[in-house]
Amino acid sequence: MDIKTNEQLQKVLIEHIGTSENGIAVLDAKDQVIFYNQAFLRAFGLQDYPVYKQSYDDLLSWMFTTGVGMKAHTQKLDEWLAYIHSQYRSAPFRNYEVELVDGRWLLMTEQLSPDGEVVLVCNDVTLFKQVELALQKAQIELARQAMTDELTSLPNRRHFMQQLDNECQRAHRYGHTTSLAVIDIDHFKKINDGYGHPTGDEVLRHFAGLLAQRLRKNDVVGRLGGEEFALLLPETSKESARAVVSRLQQRLASENLEHISPGFRYTFSAGVAECEPSPQFCCADWMRAADETLYRAKAAGRNCVMVYDGSC
Ligand code: GH3
Ligand code: MG
Ligand code: MG
Repeated sequence: MDIKTNEQLQKVLIEHIGTSENGIAVLDAKDQVIFYNQAFLRAFGLQDYPVYKQSYDDLLSWMFTTGVGMKAHTQKLDEWLAYIHSQYRSAPFRNYEVELVDGRWLLMTEQLSPDGEVVLVCNDVTLFKQVELALQKAQIELARQAMTDELTSLPNRRHFMQQLDNECQRAHRYGHTTSLAVIDIDHFKKINDGYGHPTGDEVLRHFAGLLAQRLRKNDVVGRLGGEEFALLLPETSKESARAVVSRLQQRLASENLEHISPGFRYTFSAGVAECEPSPQFCCADWMRAADETLYRAKAAGRNCVMVYDGSC
């Protein structure tokens, strides 16, 4: 490249830097601003601030106190500056995203020169960021929906079975006694037939609320499907689990259900089984034991809780 071409190139580049829509600023080795273009001022809302020769900290402090430019992730200026210092000049070249107080997002690049200057370049990436955030939100919502029963907002069968599997492994690893109760509303078909499907749905929501209210921190309740629910009670023996479920029965018997329909009552039956210590015993075995015990409770006349006795 001859000198003339080189000069032309420098002229083009300098003109470009001045008029570019990318914000560009240069800080010297002492972190004072020695160059900036108009787009840089616009990007951070610094049009009213005498940027030239200001230190990077002064610039950040001004943004913080006047509520323009970068959004601080903490309420305390010194904490925010300490965070920025932990990142600033941490690599010869790095890029990062910055959220602004007005909702825009910038993609920043920070490049160190061999003599210690820092060149900052920023691009407005708000549209890309909005799409990315919307996708993330949709992904979280889809994951939530995949785990949640829509009618009752309880964990659905799939989610419950995952938790049951985890608990089964934990019980084996730590030798915990842990119980599972499978609970089924009695004569639910008659409720649907007699009062209508929407009332049936209301009963399901009522029952889900009753179950969820009685939970301790580590208990898990789920809707397995239809009018069948399950309660996982970690570190609970089958006899204690039976007592928990019996108290639920008493609670249901004393509930005021007039809002569902005048004079309306319903009951449930349950089968309780403990996780067995054998490593071969898996969560499907556990579910089967509780399920078969439930059907014995149904056969025994309903509105009762039975505990697995190893005979199913
Ligand atoms: P049992 O005492 O033996 O459990 O009898 P049951 O009538 O409760 O049991 P069955 O399995 O015969 O009937 C369950 C009914 O639950 C049949 C089905 O239409 C109804 N069902 C399943 N899911 C829903 C739902 O989401 N909403 C409503 N309203 N009904 C449902
Ligand atoms: Mg039923
Ligand atoms: Mg059923």
